Amino acid sequence: MSFAARLAGLKAQGLLRRRRLAETPCGPEMLIDGHRILSFASNDYLGLAAHPDLIAALRDALPVWGAGAGASEFLGGHFAPNRDLETKLAAFVGAEKALHFASGFMANTGIVPALAERGDAIFSDKLNHASLIDGARLSYASHHRYPHLDLNTLAAQLAASRATRRLIVTDAVFSMDGDIAPLPELLALAKRSDALLLVDDAHGFGVFGPQGRGSAAHFGLRPSGNLLIMGTLGKAAGVSGAFVAGDAEIIDWLEQSARTAIYTTGVPPALAVALQKSLQLIAIGDDRRQHLQSLISRLRAGLAPVCAHAGWRLPESRTAIQPVIIGENDATLTVADALLARGIWSPAIRPPTVPAGQARLRISLSASHSEAQVDRLIAALSGIAS
Ligand SMILES: *Cc1c(COP(=O)(O)O)cnc(C)c1O
Repeated sequence: MSFAARLAGLKAQGLLRRRRLAETPCGPEMLIDGHRILSFASNDYLGLAAHPDLIAALRDALPVWGAGAGASEFLGGHFAPNRDLETKLAAFVGAEKALHFASGFMANTGIVPALAERGDAIFSDKLNHASLIDGARLSYASHHRYPHLDLNTLAAQLAASRATRRLIVTDAVFSMDGDIAPLPELLALAKRSDALLLVDDAHGFGVFGPQGRGSAAHFGLRPSGNLLIMGTLGKAAGVSGAFVAGDAEIIDWLEQSARTAIYTTGVPPALAVALQKSLQLIAIGDDRRQHLQSLISRLRAGLAPVCAHAGWRLPESRTAIQPVIIGENDATLTVADALLARGIWSPAIRPPTVPAGQARLRISLSASHSEAQVDRLIAALSGIAS
């Protein structure tokens, strides 16, 4: 089939994606496709992307460090700010060591094949992020996917596996559902099965745990022994990039073998300076986290009756990701368009990002939203539902 025919097929199924033109910075109020809108679309959970101290840190670093890194860190040098960022990330999450990547997608597609090779086995939650799935595809290990959060099936798969090296991978907070993996139970299972547990904390880092140290810290866990934490720096941290943290032995191995950290140009050192400022802002961000939690409760209380009336589903989620499951693609697009007509942007998420029949609005809250803005969203959805 030609590409044109494939594109037409996507269009016919309501699956064509479109990047809307943004002409203002990331924030609650944006100019999108020429319209002023109220956005519930970003993962800037703490509102740091536009924080003046972060912008100032980046601006001040540019004349000192220039714009680019010039080469891979193995060729052109591991710049001091990038080294310092790794040291601070490790200390922040309580690990011996950390390795920095240019993005979360690159981190996962580098880490997973470096940890599980031919003859090894990978076990992953069915709702894991695409980057973890692609990481498993890039490795030559066997890949076992267990139903979402089904630890009994996982235990059975582990028991049936004869691979000597086993890697369990899971999102900490699932990116399209907002629910949280039971990390202590997963870690106990990993230990019993002599497996490594890699936790992708893209949506928990900065948001959960004391001082925003992440989902593992929320459960009182530190990345050591069998536990490895991957976190991203483009969501709550407000910039871009990612890291993996754990025992020095494992991080040293990843430094030698994660191809997406080796065969790529280093992250600009000025960004690493800015990210150190992000870490400081995250650590002192209790007020932002409290405000975010109160917005989450406010939204859920307001939306529960609206969803019940409309026959939509508002699954249990205590996180900033609040999905409203509508079902069919067309119906979901209709609701998203009706919101847009009211000046509110909350993206419709369709298959293959979510399972067929579970198309949804993905409402994403940020500490930069006000209570009045959340109330506007509730009122708009209430109007559309009735
Ligand atoms: C966003 C995300 C990633 C990718 O991180 P980027 O830094 O955006 O490339 C990986 N895993 C999960 C769970 C995510 O939500």
